[in-house]
Amino acid sequence: MLVIEAPLINAQGLQTGWMSAVLDISEQRRVEELSRASQERLQATARLATVGEMASLLSHELNQPLAAISSYATGSLNLIHSGPQALADIEVAMRRIAEQAERAGKVIKSVHDFVRRRDNEREPVAPQALLDAIMPLVSLQARKLGVRVQLKLQDDLPQVACDRTMVEQVLLNLARNAMQAMDEAQARNPSLLIQVRRAGGGERHIGPSAAVEFSVADCGPGIPDVVAQQLFTPFYTTKAEGMGLGLSLCRTVVEQHGGYLGFESNHPQGTIFRFTLPVDAGPQPSPA
Ligand code: ADP
Repeated sequence: MLVIEAPLINAQGLQTGWMSAVLDISEQRRVEELSRASQERLQATARLATVGEMASLLSHELNQPLAAISSYATGSLNLIHSGPQALADIEVAMRRIAEQAERAGKVIKSVHDFVRRRDNEREPVAPQALLDAIMPLVSLQARKLGVRVQLKLQDDLPQVACDRTMVEQVLLNLARNAMQAMDEAQARNPSLLIQVRRAGGGERHIGPSAAVEFSVADCGPGIPDVVAQQLFTPFYTTKAEGMGLGLSLCRTVVEQHGGYLGFESNHPQGTIFRFTLPVDAGPQPSPA
């Protein structure tokens, strides 16, 4: 019940009594309770969706460092019995294993922050440093698949503002897709070209005008129209072992940085994926 009371005042300003209104608010309470319960259900569903999103992203992104760790470990086991001259090689492999385990840890943290939509961890990074971080993994896969890898960086590139682990994952995903496409199509003389150059504030670029463009070009089979239409749809894949999360993740990461990700045909054959990242604007003035 809700009781509302009001004094009754006559024309002379004297209180002559009280007026009470008694309202049955059971219905209002029931509706409030229903809405609270559905709000809670909604929050639980959102949490579950986040957990699902995180689990699928983690399993996708952790595949790379885990596969690398496994390759280096197999290599070391093979070397162990080949005498003391192999020690230096074993040491390098062990160091790589440690680096990749550290990378897996960073991926877990970055995916966690990413799913929770935090955009901390943006730091000024030299494009060369992003490539240096992924090259051991790219070369490992390239050697396995017989792909020639070429890097071309423009001189005097500015630093970009980014979450470096996530952007490294974008580069890794694009390079891995390119090498797999060439391998599946059994391309002759498979080669991968990773280029970095300054990009103006072209019409395709969203956000700040100064940007750096990264591109990953292959000479694989290219992307047919039917595939192109669904390329960025989560879980869309043409591979038996694929998860179909790579490109949708790449696009989300790049757009969260205020950049653009797209692709075009390479000539005479293959595909070029390009994305932009904003140039680091230097230290921001702190609020007074
Ligand atoms: P996954 O690699 O797990 O299949 P992605 O989202 O990374 O998921 O890619 C989706 C699909 O896009 C791939 O299955 C493949 O068919 C196609 N694709 C991606 N990159 C290339 C490329 N460089 N050349 C040809 N096809 C590609």
